[in-house]
Amino acid sequence: MKDHLLGKTLDEITAIIGEWDVPKDVPWKVTRWLYRRGLSDFSKMIDISKETRSLLDSHFHTGTFPYVNRLVSHDGSIRYFFETSEGFPFEAVYLPEGRRHTLCLSIQSGCRMGCRFCRTARMGFNRNLSMHEIVNQLYSIDERKLINHIVFMGMGEPMDNYENLSRSLDIFTSDYGFAIAHRNITVSTVGVSPGLQNFLRDSRSNLALSLHSPFEDQRQTLIPAEKIYSFRNLLEDMKSFREVKRRRISVQYTLIGGVNDSDEHLAELMKLLDGTHIKVNLIAFNPFEGSSFVTPEPERLTRFMDALNSRTVHTTIRKARGEDIGAACGLLGSGCRATKKSA
Ligand code: SF4
Repeated sequence: MKDHLLGKTLDEITAIIGEWDVPKDVPWKVTRWLYRRGLSDFSKMIDISKETRSLLDSHFHTGTFPYVNRLVSHDGSIRYFFETSEGFPFEAVYLPEGRRHTLCLSIQSGCRMGCRFCRTARMGFNRNLSMHEIVNQLYSIDERKLINHIVFMGMGEPMDNYENLSRSLDIFTSDYGFAIAHRNITVSTVGVSPGLQNFLRDSRSNLALSLHSPFEDQRQTLIPAEKIYSFRNLLEDMKSFREVKRRRISVQYTLIGGVNDSDEHLAELMKLLDGTHIKVNLIAFNPFEGSSFVTPEPERLTRFMDALNSRTVHTTIRKARGEDIGAACGLLGSGCRATKKSA
């Protein structure tokens, strides 16, 4: 049976092709054609001999596949729907903003973390996405050549599929791959070890910790993973690795009206982050069917931002994107579909 080529790192391709009687630079050429030039037809890799192309064709298929549907928002963001071979759904969101072209990727179909403010959690967990399913989200969208930022903030917990997170970062950042700078990639996590520890040690990409409450007992009700992985310990680890790796470490805080947007929450958050050089990204909760949570008053967002900034905790409010197509933070998996992609 033929193997997928898409989603293999240069080392993995070299390990396979290196066994063949072909020039040493063939693996490098293959990855450049595939990832940099977006070519999925071996016969067109013209700087590789005909014999080698035929060998490649007999061992591999590229493993690329088209998105199922897409929805375009009035703000320019685009929600892409994909399916695994068994029909499990997963999604990616394209977010253009000036010269910044960001792709928000999924790492799992569904999620097993069970965060209460997240629509994806209601889907349950189907499975980890494979390497070719992760990389194909970038490979197959119409804006592929524009993408210069990646955020792992779609479906799933990245540290729960750490091996594929790590291998996909290799492909996204390497010269043989998509050559996106580490500083332009952010991985979001609720804080799951040992994946998080490995990521802090081995990667140079940015990290965003989903905090959502500065009180342990409340965070446990919002994010069940807190019962096992205390955010206070996670923050200590993150602080020490920030200095070593010179990467951006941030905290994401979704304000939920009447739940975690009080002055007591703000005071505790300031105490927790004062002097840490950790940035804060505030997000207004996006309501979805079946959730009793509500959006906070806009005044609460600005109060949090102003107060934190006054304590030199650099804080911004994340602009909601793609609300009309269900692509905003925490809404993936809401199941609305667009028309099928035309051939
Ligand atoms: S917020 Fe992230 S980790 Fe939590 S359930 Fe949603 S996708 Fe999973």
